[in-house]
Amino acid sequence: MSIVERARADICALRPYVSARQDPARGILLNANESPWQPPGLNQDLNRYPEPQPAGLLKTLARLYQCDTRQLFVGRGSDEAIDLLCRAFCAAGKDAIVTAPPTFGMYAVAAGIQGARVIEVSLKGPDFALDSEAVGAAIGADDGVKLVFLCSPNNPSGGLADSQSVERVLEAASGQALVIVDEAYAEFSDQPSWIGRLSDFDNLAVLRTLSKAYGLAGLRCGALVARSEVIDLIRRIMPPYPVPATTVQTALEVLNGPAASELASRVRQIVATREWLRDRLSKLAIVKRVYPSAANFLLVAFYDAAHVDAALRESGMIVRQFSNLLPDHLRITIGERQDMMALANVLDTLA
Ligand SMILES: *Cc1c(COP(=O)(O)O)cnc(C)c1O
Repeated sequence: MSIVERARADICALRPYVSARQDPARGILLNANESPWQPPGLNQDLNRYPEPQPAGLLKTLARLYQCDTRQLFVGRGSDEAIDLLCRAFCAAGKDAIVTAPPTFGMYAVAAGIQGARVIEVSLKGPDFALDSEAVGAAIGADDGVKLVFLCSPNNPSGGLADSQSVERVLEAASGQALVIVDEAYAEFSDQPSWIGRLSDFDNLAVLRTLSKAYGLAGLRCGALVARSEVIDLIRRIMPPYPVPATTVQTALEVLNGPAASELASRVRQIVATREWLRDRLSKLAIVKRVYPSAANFLLVAFYDAAHVDAALRESGMIVRQFSNLLPDHLRITIGERQDMMALANVLDTLA
């Protein structure tokens, strides 16, 4: 049985919108009510609707992520893929997703918007490890579970999901739920991507984004990588033109341009700064714990996080607080070395 058979029956039966750009014929284009002219003074082809799934960008991303173009959905950030997955698989008021908090908040929000239930199986232990047994039990106990969101490296804790634990979840979910490994921060870790395991598990999907390591958060470009039948399903319900032409052009410039090699050195720089800050903060008396991180941020437990947060704000530095989810913790994004030194200096004055 393909995992797609677990998608909403009404979505499988839905006749997708056929947009004008899906007609491959080229000539004088009079089929999309577009303007025949560019806006005055603009030298970019923006009067036409873009390709629904831009072939050039798919090709470049497929090379980057080492997959087939048919295994890719590209959208406005990976957030869009999270939303589409919830809509495709979860019947409102009936089906459920499983998340492993503390984790990225958008999984629960997207499920909530769709009217799906959210089953939370907390990460366990001092390092926030994936509790594969408890996740497996949650899946087994509830046939409505359609999606399992795992985040590795995890936001906000920074840790990696142990690969055997992920495999156990994939096996427990086999034939029932799609397991999505969100690799938004994969470039900062040295773990192999789960994309390489797509041929082993038909219920595996991976999220990637250009928003973090590639420095393109403002571009809004992210991808879902999965078996082609899952991608076909998502493409049935995507908005007619999810990726703006300007986004396609800039993404191709960055990914295929000469700057691509510089990117690896920037990632190394962020990682080196992260480890420097981790070491520096670990020695402070106001710090309870600095979590190991494979991402571009550090989760830090303080004895008095509110006080630290206030002092940092006073100095013009804004970090992330998680008042309900993780009281006493702050998540610090790794920025330029000099800014991290300034941050450490502020914390010194509190020690
Ligand atoms: C930032 C982030 C995303 C969102 O990425 P976009 O591609 O910008 O939508 C997805 N997942 C996690 C875990 C993130 O931290």
